[in-house]
Amino acid sequence: MTTPIPVWERYPAAPIDQDNVALYKGWLRHELTLPRCGNCGKWHAPSYPLCPFCWSFDLIPTPLSGRGTVHLSILLHQGPSAKGVSYPYPVVTVELAEQAGLRFTSTAVEGCGRLAIGTPVELAWLDRDGAPFPAFRPRDGATQ
Ligand SMILES: [Zn+2]
Repeated sequence: MTTPIPVWERYPAAPIDQDNVALYKGWLRHELTLPRCGNCGKWHAPSYPLCPFCWSFDLIPTPLSGRGTVHLSILLHQGPSAKGVSYPYPVVTVELAEQAGLRFTSTAVEGCGRLAIGTPVELAWLDRDGAPFPAFRPRDGATQ
């Protein structure tokens, strides 16, 4: 039996802590997992130690569909060097389908260019230094 590689060794540059470790463990399963409140039922992002809506500590890491709509879209023309990153680098904030106002920021798959605001998107997974990294791509039939 092999011992699984700890999540912090798969994402050595990520600021992993007790509040967001479920997010990165979800990435290893190709899932976008955010904390959902067991009291009021709302998800929140980024991860906090308690629910920002009702202050409950009853948080349950819960996978989302990864589908949503582009809320913000930019191209970074410069920035720090990182494996798998070249410039211009697309950055999109997506309002996730499960809850109004729940947004997650990542990149777009290569070749998509800049995604227009309002574009329906879904999750795709890039390989970054041997570990899955979430990205968004237009959903089938979506125009940019
Ligand atoms: Zn709550």
